[in-house]
Amino acid sequence: MANQNRQVLLKRRPAGMPTTADFEIVDAPLPEAGEGEVLVRGIYLSLDPYMRGRISGARSYAKPVAIGAVMEGRVVGEVVKSRDPAFGEGDYVFGGYGWQLFSAIPGKGLLKLDPEDAPLSTALGVLGMPGLTAYVGLSNIGQPQSGETVVVSAASGAVGAVAGQLAKRSGARVVGIAGGADKCRYVEAELGLDACIDHRAGDLGAALDRICPNGVDVYFENVGGAVQQAVFPRLNDFGRMIMCGMVAEYNDVEPRPGPNLMAAVRKRLKIHGFIVGDQWHRWDEYRTMAAPLVRGGALKYREDIVEGLDVAPAAFIGLLQGRNFGKLLVRLDDDPTRGR
Ligand code: NDP
Repeated sequence: MANQNRQVLLKRRPAGMPTTADFEIVDAPLPEAGEGEVLVRGIYLSLDPYMRGRISGARSYAKPVAIGAVMEGRVVGEVVKSRDPAFGEGDYVFGGYGWQLFSAIPGKGLLKLDPEDAPLSTALGVLGMPGLTAYVGLSNIGQPQSGETVVVSAASGAVGAVAGQLAKRSGARVVGIAGGADKCRYVEAELGLDACIDHRAGDLGAALDRICPNGVDVYFENVGGAVQQAVFPRLNDFGRMIMCGMVAEYNDVEPRPGPNLMAAVRKRLKIHGFIVGDQWHRWDEYRTMAAPLVRGGALKYREDIVEGLDVAPAAFIGLLQGRNFGKLLVRLDDDPTRGR
């Protein structure tokens, strides 16, 4: 066992695409396991797109890595010393202990891994956080049905590969989007998706029209940027967009024009369009609830009534310019009930 630790520290916050100069690699003394802690020799370190957010100073759902601190990351490792009775030397564990060779950490933050279950490395990928991400996105939000068309971006990646295969198991037709012919071949031949479009090979919109002639019912969004712009307008009525990530935009220095849907990921927003015409069956339910409130004055309303059909065009234009104040109505004729 090495008698020294080695760590990657965040040296400064990158502007745009990170460079190696944003990091510093240092030797450090081997940490000592305190009471309740174990000393872990890291075997695999997971590198993930979310880390770009952690090294930026921007406000997010998680605290950024401090300048001079060890880069954050999840690791699979082996216990080499234990001061937690729940762990023994030689145990394999999974936990979040950063870009470093060794770490002394509380045993309660670790999960034990059985290498007979699955290769250790899979705890960081297909059987780890990325796999869970795909599963949660599909089962909570996408809910693909047999016969629907699902599109998955970054389809050969850690999340996308699981998302595509699980979507396929639901009976949907699944189309991947990936960068380059090799990745696309893998997505089709190995992952078994119905088709894969190379987003670097030209007009992505035209390719989507050709390969998804019935539009897109579920879009598993991993990428953002130009890929999102091509897929979004092709979503069908009642489509679902699983807002997982937008890695293509993580290095933006200036915000792109228009609403940035990454907020939907960060803030777990539910952006759910609807048309009331689909909900007429709730008319009675609404009136039963609201009419007594209106009668009792608890649900207030204001009407802006203009007189005579002829003013309708001008009143309508006024509505678009904010000149109405309250519900705009045209009085076409006397209301014999008014004032009762
Ligand atoms: P991947 O293994 O998919 O690696 C990232 C891939 O993104 C690249 O290989 C590339 O694939 C694609 N990509 C990167 N830059 C661009 C670009 N400019 N334009 C188009 N594609 C690009 O990463 P993960 O599977 O780990 O993560 C995928 C997404 O899921 C990320 O957005 C990540 O932030 C998000 N995520 C979200 C989680 C959540 O809790 N919401 C949890 C985990 C991940 P290609 O060449 O095929 O385009």
